[in-house]
Amino acid sequence: MSARIIDGKAIAAALRARIAEQISALGYPPGLTVVLVGDDPASAVYVRSKDRAATQAGIVSATLRLPADVAEPVLLAQIARLNADPAVDGILVQLPLPPHIGTQAVLEAVDPVKDVDGFHPLNVGRLAAGAPFLVPCTPLGVMRLLAAAGIALPGARALVVGRSAIVGRPLVALLLAANATVTVAHSHTRDLPDECRRAELLVAAIGQPELVRGDWVRPGAVVIDVGVNRRADGALVGDVAFDECAAVAAAITPVPGGVGPMTIACLLENTLTAALRRRGTGA
Ligand code: NAP
Repeated sequence: MSARIIDGKAIAAALRARIAEQISALGYPPGLTVVLVGDDPASAVYVRSKDRAATQAGIVSATLRLPADVAEPVLLAQIARLNADPAVDGILVQLPLPPHIGTQAVLEAVDPVKDVDGFHPLNVGRLAAGAPFLVPCTPLGVMRLLAAAGIALPGARALVVGRSAIVGRPLVALLLAANATVTVAHSHTRDLPDECRRAELLVAAIGQPELVRGDWVRPGAVVIDVGVNRRADGALVGDVAFDECAAVAAAITPVPGGVGPMTIACLLENTLTAALRRRGTGA
C-alpha cells in the first residue's frame, strides 16, 4: 500500500472537540430534536449515535419518537410545534419515513433556518445557486475531510460518482464552489472506469460494494469513499476496493473510519451554525 490514509475518525474527533469548545463559550446550549417515526432498527442505531454525539458536544438533544402508523397531519403538526419552539435550533427527520407519509411534504415543513440536514428546497436551492445556508451533512463532511487532509481543490479534475440528493448532487455544488473542475457520473455513464482514470479527485457515492477497482484509479489521485455496504460475507465495505486502490492512489479514506464519522460531526456543526444564526453568541 502506498496511499496516505485520510483518518476520518481523528479528523471528526478534532472537529467535534472544536464545536464543543465553541458551544461552551456560547452562554446557552443549542437544541437539536431528531424525529424518529417507526422502529426501523438501523434508524434507531443512527439516532442513538447522533443523540450521544450531540450530548457530548453540549447540545441539548431530544428524540421525538412517533409510531410507524402516525398520520401525516400529526407528524406535520409536531414539526410545526418544533419550528415554533425557541429552544430548538435544529430539527432532523430521520429517513426513511414509512410509505404512507409524503417524505417531500415533511422535509418542506421543517423551518429552513432549523433544517440541519439541509434537505429543505430553500437550502437545496441556495446551495445550487452558490449561496449555501445549511448544507447536507455527508457532503459537508467530505469537504471538511479534504480541507483537513490539505487537498488543493482549485482547478483539480474531480469526479463524483453518484447523483443522489443527499450526497452526490450537493457535493458537486460544494466542489464547484471550491473551484474544482467537476464531472458527475451515474448509472448511465458510458465508460465509468475511463471517467475515473481521468480524475485527480475521485469520490464514490454509489452504494455498490467495491465497485471501483485499482486499475480505475489514476496514479497519485485522491480517493474518497462515501459508500457503506454490507458484503455477502458480512464485512462492512465501501464503494471502493480499498487495497487495490490504496496501491495506486496518493491518499484514500477507509471504510469504516473515513467519511462516516464526519457526517455526525457535521450535524453538530450545522446545529451550532443554526443556533448562531438564530441567537448569535450569548443569549
Ligand atoms: P443512492 O441514492 O442509491 O444513489 C446512488 C447513486 O449511484 C445514483 O446516482 C446512481 O445512479 C449511482 N449508481 C448506482 N450504481 C451505479 C453504477 N453501477 N455505476 C455508476 N453509478 C451508479 O445512494 P446514496 O444515498 O447517495 O448513498 C451512496 C452510498 O453512500 C451508499 O453506500 C450509502 O450507504 C452511503 N452513504 C454513506 C453516508 C455516510 O455517512 N458515510 C451517508 C449517506 C450515504 P442513478 O442516479 O443513475 O440511479
